[in-house]
Amino acid sequence: MLENYKFSSKIKGKNILFLGSVHGNEKCGSQAIDFFVDQFKRKKLFINKGSVVFMPRVNKLAYQKNVRYIDYNLNRIINDNFDASIYESMIAKELKTFIKKSDILVDLHSMEAKTVPMVFVDYDKPKWLELGLASGIKHIILNWPNIYKHGGLGVADTTKYAMSKNIPGITIECGQHKDRGSVAVARKSIINILSYHGLINQDIMSKSDYKNNFYVAEKVFFRKNLKDKFHKNWKNFDFIKKGQVIANGPSGKILSLKDGYILLPKNNAKIKDEWFYLGVRKK
Ligand SMILES: [Zn+2]
Repeated sequence: MLENYKFSSKIKGKNILFLGSVHGNEKCGSQAIDFFVDQFKRKKLFINKGSVVFMPRVNKLAYQKNVRYIDYNLNRIINDNFDASIYESMIAKELKTFIKKSDILVDLHSMEAKTVPMVFVDYDKPKWLELGLASGIKHIILNWPNIYKHGGLGVADTTKYAMSKNIPGITIECGQHKDRGSVAVARKSIINILSYHGLINQDIMSKSDYKNNFYVAEKVFFRKNLKDKFHKNWKNFDFIKKGQVIANGPSGKILSLKDGYILLPKNNAKIKDEWFYLGVRKK
């Protein structure tokens, strides 16, 4: 049985599922969840209505070894294929039953590169966007799964599986793996989402605290050659002008075809791995 903690009220309401460490080395979600499990256990917090299920260490073995995964990226195999020789496949099988039982899914991650917090709202539907906004995360990335449509890469992540059951889900990238700030971001978004749905009474961020920035992901670039290098040390959400050189090397020069933004640049991407993405701002 995957480690999980459920707290509920007798009054009807949403059942919200929070996941930590779907990738074992991304521990901010686990730490934030541990905090809330403790608060609920010690009755410092109460559920007013509905219920919450916390799964702090979905990929427990990877968590213990502080690695992304053991055999395979769990967040690519949340589907109906099952392979008993893959450790993560067993987790996926059980995780699906938890997702199916929930009304809302929130998957907490962190990144290797330095980044501001961001939330992936993968499906262009009102309930999905509402959940993204409820998280209180300023930077919202839209359209993610569509850029993989022609690449032959199945995403098969937690939110896609939830989507297949018509359950709104978001993935939050809270910050860099070892940045303590990422734990604070995870905690804040848990509070925001629980409060927004009336599960707890807490002050939530005021809507006037910030304006959201929306980005539409448009294209993914894979690394073809390790000698291909970025033209400069790009950071996530860097603005790029039409015609600007993004990268250069044996595979040729990569230019930006329009004004836009660099998303998730990965200096140390391996060959055939995702290297960076391009997107545009949506007003
Ligand atoms: Zn992750």
